[in-house]
Amino acid sequence: MQTLRIAGISVPPGQRALSEVACGELPDGTAVRLPLIVVNGAGDGPTLWLGAGLHGTEVPGMEVIRRITRELVDPGRLRGALLAAPLLNPFSFHQHQMLTPQDGYNLNRVFPGSRVMLLSHRLAAQIAELADPCDVYLDFHANPTPALQFAIIKHSGDDALWERSQGLARAFGITTIQMIPTHEQHRTGTFTDHVQERGKPCLVLELIAWRRFDAASLATGVRGTLNVMRHLGMLDGAIEPQRDVPMIEGPLTRTEVTANRGGLVHPYKYPGDPVTEGETIAVIRNPWGDIVEEIRAPRDGWILAWPLLGNQAVATGDILAFIAFRP
Ligand SMILES: [Zn+2]
Repeated sequence: MQTLRIAGISVPPGQRALSEVACGELPDGTAVRLPLIVVNGAGDGPTLWLGAGLHGTEVPGMEVIRRITRELVDPGRLRGALLAAPLLNPFSFHQHQMLTPQDGYNLNRVFPGSRVMLLSHRLAAQIAELADPCDVYLDFHANPTPALQFAIIKHSGDDALWERSQGLARAFGITTIQMIPTHEQHRTGTFTDHVQERGKPCLVLELIAWRRFDAASLATGVRGTLNVMRHLGMLDGAIEPQRDVPMIEGPLTRTEVTANRGGLVHPYKYPGDPVTEGETIAVIRNPWGDIVEEIRAPRDGWILAWPLLGNQAVATGDILAFIAFRP
């Protein structure tokens, strides 16, 4: 392995380094930084990107990255390198928000970004430039509870890349959602789209308890990441099966259920529960307590998550539920 030169620092083989890159300023001139952790292995192998915090509310991936890069991986026994970026949208993190507060954009919808547009576009362009030299990508996200933990792979039209993405998902070892090209077409401009257009595979991880540390979820994230590193030949040892994680056997894709009316959501089903088409899975009640909408399963499948982004309430068009189903 050679000395790794990245983000203005040089990391010799077998060493770990902490770094940062300036990514903008607050109105009072306070500099804001993207933290980076680089682990350069003693042996040859791929460079794996570990990214978290594209959404500032989703902190579990930050802790998975800390355990992997600061505690568990010995650079002297690593083949290849880790480039870890645990907090990719510090502006949204400051405000405990999912979106960038300065411009209201979802950072994970504006890739590849632009150096001359709004803050989110500038951040995306900077992240793309940092990430582009890597070979394989893990992009950590998280859903609010209750939700199953799951991985997402996206078919970009390249079958060889699809095979590699499936390999990453099998190694990670949790419920996997296959995002097919005709589906969820509002999800464009993602980090995954950017790196896959460059011919590199990306596995998105949806851990749980997005604003909090959940011990079981963190253990699942760490075990899965080490499994991916073994799968890529970066670490010795066999793939360790995931434990204590509810699983839905694949192949699976998902559909979103959105609200027509506004109010408080009363789910009738728990993540992992099977549902049949037409079955009532939740009701929405207005503040007086009347049922204003019955939410029915759009098809046979399983409840994957109730990804309510704020409190227990929704407005028209908000995503209420993800339903996993066999395509
Ligand atoms: Zn996210």
